[in-house]
Amino acid sequence: MSYVDEVLELVKQKNASEPEFLQAVTEVLNSLRPVVEANEELYRKNAILERITEPDRQIMFRVPWVDDKGQVQVNRGFRVQFNNAIGPYKGGLRLHPSVNLGIIKFLGFEQIFKNSLTSLPIGGGKGGSDFDPKGKSDREIMAFCQSFMTELSKYIGADVDVPAGDIGTGAREIGFMFGQYKRIKGMFEGVLTGKGLTYGGSLARTEATGYGLLYLTEELIKCHGESMEGKTVVVSGAGNVAIYATQKAQQMGAKVVTCSDSTGWIYDPEGIDVALLKEVKEVKRARLTEYAAARPSAQYHEGRGVWQIKCDIALPCATQNELLIEDAKQLVANGCKCVCEGANMPTTIDATEYLQANGVWFVGGKAANAGGVATSALEMSQNSERLSWSFEEVDAKLKGIMVNIYHNIDDAAKRYGMEGNYVAGANIAGFEKVVNAMLAQGVC
Ligand code: NDP
Repeated sequence: MSYVDEVLELVKQKNASEPEFLQAVTEVLNSLRPVVEANEELYRKNAILERITEPDRQIMFRVPWVDDKGQVQVNRGFRVQFNNAIGPYKGGLRLHPSVNLGIIKFLGFEQIFKNSLTSLPIGGGKGGSDFDPKGKSDREIMAFCQSFMTELSKYIGADVDVPAGDIGTGAREIGFMFGQYKRIKGMFEGVLTGKGLTYGGSLARTEATGYGLLYLTEELIKCHGESMEGKTVVVSGAGNVAIYATQKAQQMGAKVVTCSDSTGWIYDPEGIDVALLKEVKEVKRARLTEYAAARPSAQYHEGRGVWQIKCDIALPCATQNELLIEDAKQLVANGCKCVCEGANMPTTIDATEYLQANGVWFVGGKAANAGGVATSALEMSQNSERLSWSFEEVDAKLKGIMVNIYHNIDDAAKRYGMEGNYVAGANIAGFEKVVNAMLAQGVC
């Protein structure tokens, strides 16, 4: 049995009740087979795969808080500190009723490789709670966040573990958690990222994931002898990633003709009006029907359907499993050349394989949406320096990082005879750096 198969078997035995974690480990280790086979003796002797699939530690704790009726509620808190070979643990805090240990482990494991790809010194971790922020008052959110941080504060720190936002954890929650940390520790340090601009947050963090996606896409297109100028782009989603991806694509001279939300989608052959989209989604928090009502060139459709529009480039920026095999077939039939993921896991595995098999340049979210976490690491740097960089400075660094990521994943794929397989390239490039650091640091 190969070393990869042996470790997959072991991971299955030890984590049988965690399907999401098993899926992530299986996908990553399968794509690493060529690297592992080339270094089998060294990796086996040092138990590299056994160590990289076992978190440094997983912390679970009770989060009691009092609701507006005076009733005590109890949630479960998690922080999985997966691997700190290249820097302090870094990864978001997810607040959603579906959160459990297996999901946090899956996200923490993936984060190791994504963070490594940014070329910045950040390890992998993830946390959160099964608390549901929907429908809670501001006071209830604060009560939860303070209780959550009271326990979490024992395990984190600016040089130890630096959590950030994720689903359900936005600027409001980060603010409440930061306030409680400061109060408990009696000091002001950059222990969280995604902070407000008045207390250590970074300019350009809001734009970073969408802008970063386009910097990487532009470099990919350029290396294939093309430019963004005049390209037709299809984007899904109408949230943070989609809005800033659309804005940057337009700044680069492309025409973005779609957006979508959880109920419907827009086809706007004149090109999406970003100012109007921001007004509808960020200010009014309304449905896309309002966009269509305000813009004569826009057509609104119920349900899903952006992938049926003819395009050169497709950028899924909404949610997981939103680009299915039939969508991939439609994109290929319409001559789409490039798919880069702004969201996490938006393309199903069979759709990914179909796109790759039909010559579409496909870059997965681990590389393509790493601009968000990279800019969080830049927030850490600014906090350590006690300085704030200008928007232009952060944006220029972000661009350099994304261009570098593209070349790293391209190079890694070529080195192992898989030219053009950017999914494998991303896993390999992220993995190699972490493994080299682990080997240098001995058995730990
Ligand atoms: P937002 O919540 O701001 O936006 C998500 C958008 O997707 C919303 O417009 C939402 O619609 C829409 N949406 C949700 N479900 C569906 C669906 N089933 N079909 C079509 N549209 C849907 O999230 P973000 O933009 O921040 O994140 C989007 C993705 O990017 C997620 O996968 C996230 O994990 C990933 N990501 C985000 C980063 C960031 O920095 N923000 C960093 C890295 C990854 P509605 O308006 O109706 O809610």
